[in-house]
Amino acid sequence: MAGAAGRLLLAGAAAATAVEVAHLAPAAGRLTPARRTVCRGLAGYGSATHVALTFDDGPDPRSTPHFLDELDALEVRATFFLLGSMLERAPVLGRELVERGHEVAVHGWDHRRPWWPDPARDLTELRRTVGTITEACGVRPRWYRPPYGVLTSGLLRSARRTGLRTVLWTGWGRDWTAHATPASVYATLRPQLRGGATLLLHDSDCTSAHGAWRSALGALPRVVEHCRERGLWVGSLREHGLA
Ligand SMILES: [Zn+2]
Repeated sequence: MAGAAGRLLLAGAAAATAVEVAHLAPAAGRLTPARRTVCRGLAGYGSATHVALTFDDGPDPRSTPHFLDELDALEVRATFFLLGSMLERAPVLGRELVERGHEVAVHGWDHRRPWWPDPARDLTELRRTVGTITEACGVRPRWYRPPYGVLTSGLLRSARRTGLRTVLWTGWGRDWTAHATPASVYATLRPQLRGGATLLLHDSDCTSAHGAWRSALGALPRVVEHCRERGLWVGSLREHGLA
């Protein structure tokens, strides 16, 4: 990633030409210690005793309340990367996320892929999303994760100017496909359930196959149990000890 900030492009979840962010890890071996730290932080590597649980694409009144109840039952707090356009339609649910102990973060105003660089638009949309989250949820978000994990120099710069730190993920459950099941999501995640991991799941199917969120929801108990059996804490990004 050295020197590539100007044209950094990381394709992520659901992108046809996906480059898994986990690929950052071997690449980081060739970097200076300072840049390696930046890359690991960008990917979401945190404390060796902690696993960060994150959800993208909500809040969605059809699905997010089920996640809130399941997370309560598991006594786990998570980070929700919100879409401003979704929150605008369900502001009360955004407030409820915070009231029930979870962290809210920025996923963007909508789920567009930035095919054409437009730094002015990026900054405007991020500011709008931060404003909407702050007003609806009562807290100012700290983290940013662009849709599909696609980062451009304009998005990175806009995030910094908006006071956001960009965090992607180290492991995903491929929970967005029509064929995903709780078992498939757990099986996909299992090799990635290590200390320091940041897990990506979705609490809404607004950009996924209809009903796909049920696979992520159903996988949660096994994911949490797996981590706890290995002495790992599961929680939000604010507890993740990102360098
Ligand atoms: Zn997304």
